[in-house]
Parts: sequence; structure tokens; C-alpha cells
Amino acid sequence: MEPIQEIYKLLETPRTVVVTMHQKPDPDAMGSSLALSGVLKKMGHTVTVISPTNWPEFLKWMPGARQVLDYESSQDKAVAILNQAEWIFCLDFNALHRTKHMADRIASSNAVKVLIDHHQQPELSAFTYGVSDVSKSSTCEMVYDFVVNGGFTDLIDADIAACLYAGIIGDTGSFRFPATSAAVHEMVATLKNKGLNHTAVHENLYDNFLEDRLRFIGHVLLHRMEIFYEYNTALIAVSKNDLLRYNVRTGDTEGLVNYPLTIQGIKLSALVIDRDEERKWSFRSKGNFDVNTFARKYFSGGGHFNASGGRSAVPLPEAVKQFKEAMKENETQLQ
Ligand code: 5GP
Ligand code: MN
Repeated sequence: MEPIQEIYKLLETPRTVVVTMHQKPDPDAMGSSLALSGVLKKMGHTVTVISPTNWPEFLKWMPGARQVLDYESSQDKAVAILNQAEWIFCLDFNALHRTKHMADRIASSNAVKVLIDHHQQPELSAFTYGVSDVSKSSTCEMVYDFVVNGGFTDLIDADIAACLYAGIIGDTGSFRFPATSAAVHEMVATLKNKGLNHTAVHENLYDNFLEDRLRFIGHVLLHRMEIFYEYNTALIAVSKNDLLRYNVRTGDTEGLVNYPLTIQGIKLSALVIDRDEERKWSFRSKGNFDVNTFARKYFSGGGHFNASGGRSAVPLPEAVKQFKEAMKENETQLQ
């Protein structure tokens, strides 16, 4: 993978571009993709944003979100556009399998592939150009850097600023995680000067749910959370039945894994959700417990030091058993 700085010159010619992100996009994945797409369009490129899957209701307010193609529900159209693409920007993921059914299409495409990402252990050989930096708070910060370093700060408007800010607050837990550097705050100051309405972004992301979701959270915290004080660990296991009973929709479980970390002494929080095709894991930690390694070793996943995800193919009760064994194996690191 060659350094991303080399593409500024190549982008002086108008290109047909696809911007894509990881499946089930979060505010950082969707926000960075829409922000980059907004800037590239202003530079004169023809840009389509394609998401590998659908996305949560709480991202639908984002400027440009209505034009995003869902690869799963609009596959023919998305494939036709991918086939035309001269450039594919891959945002907020480190390995092509994170784009689910799009992975093979991207791998076999002759387009120039550009990575902008902050996850650990990137699959560098899959990309022509790019930047991978695990010290960055978010892919939105990296898109901002890319735009500013290329001399395109003037192209950032209030809509692009809103998309970037959404990813920043999503991935920094509203400025609390350690990667929230001075540069992040400086970036937000610039976004404010571009007309960013930060209150509206917070409300759109966090005060925009249905009653069912809050009832669901109450239910799982009361009935589905186990605490293992001797391992400073908490586990929430959500069954298919729980999802059905509360009409849980894409995005409704976002943030659920953070609740157990509010308990004194808890260093590792795990959430497993029984999805049709797999048991989907989320891991969050505080301090020096490395959940990237943990997810890679036991649950075919990865991510960041303090936030990661993974999957189990076995049924839910066995997945829970796997977790408890893994937790016990890590007793020393969890102290
Ligand atoms: P979440 O729990 O929100 O699904 O994921 C937490 C973080 O880990 C996010 O940054 C997400 O992109 C990343 N992540 C989730 N699942 C995987 C995975 O299977 N592999 C890798 N490399 N990262 C993942
Ligand atoms: Mn991210």
C-alpha cells in the first residue's frame, strides 16, 4: 500500500468513484464516507456511496444518507456501479471481509483501492494507496486530515462538518476515550467555524429512538446481564426471542455493551447477540485489557485495543460457554 499523499495529484482528473465502509455502519463509518463523498463531489468527481448492508435509523438524518446504496437490497445497481468504478475508497475497516458480500467484488475489481482506517492489523496488500493509523480517534478525523493536508479545507461546509462530527463523537464516546487528542478538539473548533450545529448532531444520534428500545435495554440489564466480580468482567447475552419481543431494529443494540463498564471495577464487558447467521460479539474494556487480541484469539474478530467485535458459529448457550472459558484463561490479565 502506497502513502495516501500520492493520490492528490491523481485526483486532479475527474474520476468515477465508489466510497464504501464496513457492514452495519456506525456513525464513524457512515459519517466518514458521506464527508469524503461530499468533498470529492465538490472536487468534480462522480461519487456513489455504497454500504455493504442496511444501516440504523439514527444515521438517516445525515446529509447525503438518502442517496447511499444498500448492497444487499440494491445489488444489481450496486454491482453495475462498482463495475464502472475507477477508484474505490474503503473507509473504517481493515480487511475486505468486513464488507460482507461485497468483499469478492472489491477484491476482483481493477479499480484503484484506497484505504482510510484506524483498526489494528490492516490487510495492506488489498489496497493500492492508503493510510492506516491506530492512534487516530476515528476515520472521520483521518478524512478531515486528508482533506486539510490536500489543501481542500475550503470545501468543508456545515453538512460535511455534521457528518465528520457524528463520527468523532461516536468513536470517542463524546470525547472521553484516550485517542481524543488536542488535534481532535482543534478539528471540532474548525468544524464549528464552518457552521456545525453540534447539539443537533447529538440529538439526532442519541435522542431519536422508539420506546421499545429503552424497554429492551431495561429488560436485558435486569435479566440478561451476568457479572463475574472475580474476573472484573460482565456479559450480556441477548436471545432471538428478546430481539423479537421488543422489535429490536438495526442500531438499537449500539452502545448496550458500554453499560456494564459503568460498574465500579469492571474492566471487560462483552455483549453477544443471537443473529440469524451468527452469534455477534462486541467487547469493550477499560485500561490495559486488550480486546483486539481477545477477539482475534477466541472469536474470529478484531478491532481496537479497548473496543472490538467478533463472531461465533455455535448456538448461543455454547457461545456463552466459550466466552466463560476464554475469560478464565485471561484471569491474570483481567486483574
Ligand atoms: P462493535 O462492537 O461496535 O461491532 O465493534 C467495535 C469495534 O470493533 C468497531 O470499531 C468495529 O469496526 C470493530 N470490529 C467489530 N467486529 C470486527 C471484526 O470482526 N474484525 C475487526 N477487525 N474489527 C471488528
Ligand atoms: Mn471507526
